[in-house]
Amino acid sequence: MNTIITVDGPSGAGKGTLCQLLAKATGYALLDSGALYRLTALAAIKAEVALTDVQALAKLAAGLDIAFNAAEQGVTVLLAGKDVTREIREEAVGMAASQVAALQPVRDALLMRQRAFADGSGLVADGRDMGTVVFPSAAVKFFLTASAEERAKRRVLQLESVGQKADERQILTDIEARDKRDRERASSPLVPAADAILLDSTKMTIDQVFEYAMATIKK
Ligand code: C5P
Repeated sequence: MNTIITVDGPSGAGKGTLCQLLAKATGYALLDSGALYRLTALAAIKAEVALTDVQALAKLAAGLDIAFNAAEQGVTVLLAGKDVTREIREEAVGMAASQVAALQPVRDALLMRQRAFADGSGLVADGRDMGTVVFPSAAVKFFLTASAEERAKRRVLQLESVGQKADERQILTDIEARDKRDRERASSPLVPAADAILLDSTKMTIDQVFEYAMATIKK
């Protein structure tokens, strides 16, 4: 069965957690498309490729040597054989990812790689353009949002839970900058698909979001 469920929305709306829960409940594979942009950005930083060098970045994206290994405690992400699971989640890498993601040749280079995740056994796809560009004929599409302030608060809690210090105002500024870049870019701007179900999680717990999404999928 090749059922595809897409979850798009801005940074920090809870897409990652929702997608992990949906993949577990349905037994479908999971595509974290943001990780591909983060890996491209990290590979560029490591190779000292300028984030404005469009051709070099597209080449990097096309040739990324990556692996996602599912384990009990979550997915381990490898870049050129090295575990970069934590490194790709750093704020600086996220900011760089949103810059490289604005470049159409980079998006083109990652398109087929993303579609290859739909190998016939069902897929939950997490991103910004899953329902609009990558899987336009997906069976169920969600667009998950939350206010920027709520998303900043959640990010602070997440960082604190792993022992990192967080400056909420700085995080809010970063989230707003990333939102603006994702929404206003010429290539695949962040917009809900016409047939997406809009879900505002500002006042919802992740369990409520998950239950609502599962009930919708089962309909
Ligand atoms: O979702 P995540 O924060 O990991 O994504 C990192 C960056 O990659 C985002 O800020 C966004 O600019 C970009 N992205 C994208 N299209 C996707 C997934 C992520 O442009 N499908």
